Amino acid sequence: MTASESAENPWASELSVGVYTISLAAHTVARELLMDCCSGTNKISRETIGEDFLAPWERTYHVPIRQITVYGEPVLHRRAAEVTEFDDQLRQLVADMHATMDAAHGVGLAAPQIGVGLRIFTYIYADQDTAPERGVLINPVLTLSKVSQATPDPDEEAEGCLSVPGLNFPLKRAEYAKVEGFDEFGKPVSFEATGWFARILQHEFDHLDGLLYVDKLVPRWDKRWLKAKKSLGWGVPGITWLPGTDEDPFGH
Ligand SMILES: [Zn+2]
Repeated sequence: MTASESAENPWASELSVGVYTISLAAHTVARELLMDCCSGTNKISRETIGEDFLAPWERTYHVPIRQITVYGEPVLHRRAAEVTEFDDQLRQLVADMHATMDAAHGVGLAAPQIGVGLRIFTYIYADQDTAPERGVLINPVLTLSKVSQATPDPDEEAEGCLSVPGLNFPLKRAEYAKVEGFDEFGKPVSFEATGWFARILQHEFDHLDGLLYVDKLVPRWDKRWLKAKKSLGWGVPGITWLPGTDEDPFGH
C-alpha cells in the first residue's frame, strides 16, 4: 500500500483506508437481492436497496484500523505540525489511533505512524499511577531528566517501534519525563512519568519531531540496524502494514 501526502495540508497526508469486503453471508444476500430485483420486472434501484446491500466490489467503507507506515515514509522523518482545530475530525482520528494501537498490540502510537503529520500520540500503560491508563497527548511539551551516557543494556533497555516492525535495539532514555499537552477536546493534560512509561513518552514524542528510536542508536547497535534496514529494503516510501490483518511483526 502506498501513502499519499501533502505538505500544505496535514490532513491530506492520511493514508487511504483500505477497501474491505463484506462477509460472505452478506455478500450472498446482496447478490440475491440484486439478482432478484434486476432479473424480475419488479426492479429496485440501488437507492431503495441501500448501500448495505451493495455487492462488496461496489462499496468502500471505513474501518478505524489504519495502515502503519514503515521507516522511509517521508511523514515519519519530518517535524509534525501543531493541531489547531479540536473538532470531530480530530476526535475520529484519535479514536482510530487508539484502535490501531490496540490492534497492533502497541503501547504507544504517534500520528505520523498512520501517515498523519500532526503532533498527536496515544499511549496505553497500566503500570503507573500518575496518569490515566490510556490517553492522548496533543501538541505535547516534554521535560526530561538527563540521559545517561552509559552503554545501553540490551536486556533491560531494548525498544521496539511499530514503524520498525519486528526489530528491537537498546538505547538510553531519561528516567524521568514530564509531559504537558491537550486531550482531543482541547482540555489541558499534564503528568509525570518514570522508568518505562517515561521511555514510552520519549519514544512517541520523538516521532512528532521526525525521529525514530533507530536514529538515536549508539554505533554498535546502529551498525546492526543499518544492516537490517538494508536487507529488509526499508528507507523508501510506500511500505506499510495493517494491524490485525498482516502477521504481527512482534509475534503478539
Ligand atoms: Zn515508534
